[in-house]
Amino acid sequence: MEYTEIMIRYGELSTKGKNRKDFIGRLAGNVTKVLRDFPQVEIHPKHDRMHIVLNGAPFKQVDQHLKKVFGIQTYSPTIKTEKTLKDIEETALALMKETYHEGMTFKVNTKRSDHHFTYDTNELNLMVGDYLFDHMSNLKVEMKHPDIVLRIEVRQDAVYISDELLHGAGGMPVGTGGRAVMMLSGGIDSPVASYLALKRGVDIEMVHFYSPPYTTEKALNKAKELTGILANYAGRINFIAVPFAEIQETIKEKIPEGYLMTVQRRFMLRLADLIREKRKDLAIFNGESVGQVASQTLESMAAINDVTTTPVLRPVATMDKTEIISLAEKIGTFDLSIQPFEDCCTIFAPPRPKTKPKMDKAREYEARLDVDGLIERALDGIEVTPIYPDEKFLANKAEEDTALL
Ligand code: ATP
Ligand code: MG
Repeated sequence: MEYTEIMIRYGELSTKGKNRKDFIGRLAGNVTKVLRDFPQVEIHPKHDRMHIVLNGAPFKQVDQHLKKVFGIQTYSPTIKTEKTLKDIEETALALMKETYHEGMTFKVNTKRSDHHFTYDTNELNLMVGDYLFDHMSNLKVEMKHPDIVLRIEVRQDAVYISDELLHGAGGMPVGTGGRAVMMLSGGIDSPVASYLALKRGVDIEMVHFYSPPYTTEKALNKAKELTGILANYAGRINFIAVPFAEIQETIKEKIPEGYLMTVQRRFMLRLADLIREKRKDLAIFNGESVGQVASQTLESMAAINDVTTTPVLRPVATMDKTEIISLAEKIGTFDLSIQPFEDCCTIFAPPRPKTKPKMDKAREYEARLDVDGLIERALDGIEVTPIYPDEKFLANKAEEDTALL
């Protein structure tokens, strides 16, 4: 039996008035974007719920996209039926026959917004329940925690029946929180931080530092492909590649080894902030986790953060590596993140970075460099690429194999 509609319940919608309108409008826009491959689908945003009319689009495929849209708390695929007892009973039975397995418990739960309908909710619960008992064997009813809740909604235009309540992605619609730059490396943490920023409704643009010829095209493409995975949650993400080799060479030549890393990071943050400003974004996100490595101690963060007063948000700051990894697996970035293509930080990483760098020392050493010139040339070299869901940038194994034949 094919579902005909999806009913969507909104997420964290505590706000009213204009914010509520913005929330619903964004959500409708974001749903439209992820379902662009299904032109027959109609989206009807209402004050308390959203209805998606499938018009023949297969629910299973639509669901692959819908489950990644932030701002949806729960949703139910439903079947629309005529407002007659016979139609309601037959549809309920057909749905139950597909979902019910030996030993499961169920209950019928009716709601009415059409209060003039012939039967009230109690009557419908009983009549449909009896009908199911008459036509299926071994059914078990359970009121408190049934395995299946058969939901029947009697509305003005028709009756809607569903047997599933699915959990949405939660969070808030991407875009309701404004836009920020995200510092994306090719590692495990920053893609997870990206997901968490998007989840709170913040639209992001990736800033990625790369250092040809020290880093390969593959490392750059890996970061782009990670962006493609994350674009599933955003519809589209701009990828801003920033050339970083000249800065790294200069730092390596002129800065004492213990401060190589601190000064590099200060340059990264400065550049990210200037790009943010140019693009009118509101904040900077990164994938730092407290204490994970030398550059992520509180002392290091203070010495690095010194270059800007813009809010720098760190969604994975308090998470353990194992927690970050399990989220990375859930959102589908982990396997790509652990591919061993060295990025610019790995290559210029000093063997013994200071875990407690001093801010004034960092400033003092940095003053030996032509900071403005270095920054200007890096900014001149940036390239912006819009990246779409699941866009691929690394040739897959099969293709490589064919190329060799
Ligand atoms: P990740 O797994 O995200 O790479 P990490 O634990 O390896 O994080 P670092 O390499 O020290 O940590 O980087 C800390 C943060 O700095 C990253 O999460 C990211 O936000 C930012 N960063 C590091 N390298 C780059 C880069 N090449 N381009 C942009 N941002 C970067
Ligand atoms: Mg890294």
